[in-house]
Amino acid sequence: MTKQIASSTNARLPKDGDLPELVNVAIIGAGPAGIGMGWVLRDLAIPGVKILERKRIGASFYLWPQTTRFITPSFPSNAFGLTDLNAISFDSSPAYALKREHLSGAEYASYLEEAVEVFDLDIVTPIDIKDLQPQANGITLHTNAGTIRARFVIWAAGQFQYPNLAVMPGWEHGVHSSQIRQWTDYPGETILIVGGYESGIDAAIGLANAGKKVKILSRTAPWESDDTDPSVALSPLTAQRLNAALQQKQSIELIGNADIIGIERLGETVKVHSADGRVWTTQSFPILATGFSGSATLIDHWFERDTEGHHILTERDESTIVSGLFRIGPDIRYNSVPLAFIYEFRQRFAIVGQTIAERLGIDTAPLEAYRSRNMFRGGPLCKNPSPAP
Ligand SMILES: Cc1cc2nc3c(=O)[nH]c(=O)nc-3n(C[C@H](O)[C@H](O)[C@H](O)COP(=O)(O)OP(=O)(O)OC[C@H]3O[C@@H](n4cnc5c(N)ncnc54)[C@H](O)[C@@H]3O)c2cc1C
Repeated sequence: MTKQIASSTNARLPKDGDLPELVNVAIIGAGPAGIGMGWVLRDLAIPGVKILERKRIGASFYLWPQTTRFITPSFPSNAFGLTDLNAISFDSSPAYALKREHLSGAEYASYLEEAVEVFDLDIVTPIDIKDLQPQANGITLHTNAGTIRARFVIWAAGQFQYPNLAVMPGWEHGVHSSQIRQWTDYPGETILIVGGYESGIDAAIGLANAGKKVKILSRTAPWESDDTDPSVALSPLTAQRLNAALQQKQSIELIGNADIIGIERLGETVKVHSADGRVWTTQSFPILATGFSGSATLIDHWFERDTEGHHILTERDESTIVSGLFRIGPDIRYNSVPLAFIYEFRQRFAIVGQTIAERLGIDTAPLEAYRSRNMFRGGPLCKNPSPAP
């Protein structure tokens, strides 16, 4: 049965909480990963779980540009075993709740707020986690408001609030795509965008709709890719929007072999340089759609790294250095494949939940439903593992 999580423009704000001294499980971040994880731990009846959030529930989604929409569609297909692509649990559906197929950031945040309400998850906010320190029996979290001790820590602080900025000399003359709220307000007539994947194309369409001339400078040409992985090729929605904009003769120029190596400002003019010596000029600030370094940079030193610099995790998504420290969300990998979308990374919540439940001697039977609903991918104790992607 689908839980009737209703849309509400008056969704309650996260409840303020005093800083607890000791918790059983601390989940860092109240985005889809943290709340979906909290939901699993609630299903397992694990006591003493707190979600520690620096801003508010769904904070990253409130920071999206107003016109930006989910690229993955929502559809209330849960009853037939096909969970809404953007749901954080198999028994909820943003499409059902909000009657929308491609949600805005604020709409999705309201779905998360209602999820917290329905499951009565315990959110402590505002509290900013700065670092952590393993102890003999648990982990100490260092926060802006003091320390908290937790037996288990699940890092779910996401990517969006940690942009990849210093990607080239002169980056400070640009603006990262995640810092723009309204395309119509963006200064200048000709805008250069560095990066041609989803964020870059979304920015280009938003700016072109606002009457700007846009040039996209990208190392590769995702708009030409026919890769089957939607985290490599453009999503159907973005491809459709781009094609429509080009057919309407919007001023969008796609330059797909531009390896940008530097930006310089000379008075009012900004020059963007590519590795092969080409130069583009603008009187505005280039937009850096260059992705995210991610929140896990805060806790880098508690993970081993592979040759590509990715954190090495156990089969249970746990640090190989700190027992009881787990990572969930879009920048972890499963079988070397990044779990970029919500419908991908939500399949690992149950693995972490199972691990914690087993260590606490708590019955994992409630996870049977997760297996049968395609919300349980991998894990050594999985009886019916899904095939690797
Ligand atoms: C424009 C855009 C469109 C997207 N479209 C889609 C889509 O269509 N489909 C899809 O599946 N995915 C989409 N994504 C990706 C999706 O939004 C992310 O994968 C998802 O938000 C990740 O969830 P998360 O909970 O890990 O991180 P977040 O949503 O970023 O949540 C992390 C939370 O942690 C909090 N936090 C951060 N640091 C700290 C700290 N130090 N201490 C305490 N709290 C902290 C933040 O305030 C935030 O509330 C899109 C992303 C963008 C930017």
